[in-house]
Amino acid sequence: MARSKYIIAVDIGGTNTKLGMVSTNGRILRTTSFPTCRRRGDVIDRVIKEAYGLVNSTHIRKRDILGIGMGVAGPTDHSRGLIHHFVNVPGWRNTPLARIVRSRTKLPTFIDNDVNVMTIGELYFGAGRGAKNMICLTLGTGVGGGVVIDGRLHRGSNLVAGEIGHMPINVVGRKCNCGGIGCMEMYVGNKYIVENALRRLKGKKNSLILKLIGGDRRKLTPEVLAIAARRGDKTANAVWADTGLHLGVAIAASVSLINPERVVIGGGVAGAGEVLFKHIRKAVENRTMKEHRHGLRIVRAKLGSKAGLVGAMQLVKLSLKERME
Ligand SMILES: [Zn+2]
Repeated sequence: MARSKYIIAVDIGGTNTKLGMVSTNGRILRTTSFPTCRRRGDVIDRVIKEAYGLVNSTHIRKRDILGIGMGVAGPTDHSRGLIHHFVNVPGWRNTPLARIVRSRTKLPTFIDNDVNVMTIGELYFGAGRGAKNMICLTLGTGVGGGVVIDGRLHRGSNLVAGEIGHMPINVVGRKCNCGGIGCMEMYVGNKYIVENALRRLKGKKNSLILKLIGGDRRKLTPEVLAIAARRGDKTANAVWADTGLHLGVAIAASVSLINPERVVIGGGVAGAGEVLFKHIRKAVENRTMKEHRHGLRIVRAKLGSKAGLVGAMQLVKLSLKERME
C-alpha cells in the first residue's frame, strides 16, 4: 500500500491564524494556532516556525509532505501567489506570499482567498460533495462567496469572482465601503442584523430578546436573536425574515445566472439555522423559475471551522494536478 501523503494547511484570518497537518484524504492530524500579529514579517516567520513544529510533532517525513496550502482573508492572485491586500491589516499590499514561503521551506506553496478555500473544502469534503455546480456563501461581518462551475472553482478574469456580498440588491440603496450601492452585505452583515433588531426593539420593554441580554442592548448579537426566534419571539423572527429575504434575493439572482444544484451557506450567522433558512428558501422560491429550482438544495455548510484547513489541503492537491496537466 502506498504511504499516506500530507499537506500543511494554513488559514490566515484577521484575528487568528490556524495551521494543520492534513492528509490528502482530508483527515486533520494535528492543529495549532496563534493570534495574527500586526507585522507581516512576524506572521510569515511564525507560520514557518509552526509549520516545522507540526512536521516534528507528527513525525511525518518531509518527502511525504506534498506542499503548503494557504487561505488568506482578503483578495489574492492565486495564479501568481500574491496577496493584493490583507483585510484590516496594513503592510501586506502585493505580498508574494507563496514565493516567500516556498523559498524558505522548499515546498510547493499555493494561496487563495479564504472563501475560495472554504468553497473547495465544502465541495470535496462537506455539504457540496457530489455537486458539479455550486454557490457557497459565508455569513459574518461581511458576506463572502465562491462559485463552482462544472466541478471547478470559478475565479474570473481578475480572480475576484464570487463576491456575492457586493451584489447590488437595491437600486437606490445604502452606500457600501466597496464603492457600490445597495450591496447585499449592507443588509445582512452582523452589524445590520443587530441594527435591525435594535430598531424594532425601540420603545419596547417586555421582549424575550431583552430578557436574554439582561436589558443591555450592547450585548445583542445574531446568536441571541437566533435563540429568541427559536423560542417564538416575533421581533427576532421578523429580523430573520428580513435577513433571509435579502439573502434570498441575491441567491435567487445567482441561481438564475449559474443554475447550481447546491447552495451551501456557512459562517457564524448561518448558525441561526432554520429560523433563517426557511426565509431564504421562500425568497428563492418566489424569485426563480421552476426549471432553476429542480433538484436545487440550499443547505448549511458542514465543515465549520475545519473548512479552511481541509480546503487549503485540497487547493494544493488541485494546483499540483493542474500543473501536471
Ligand atoms: Zn459592496
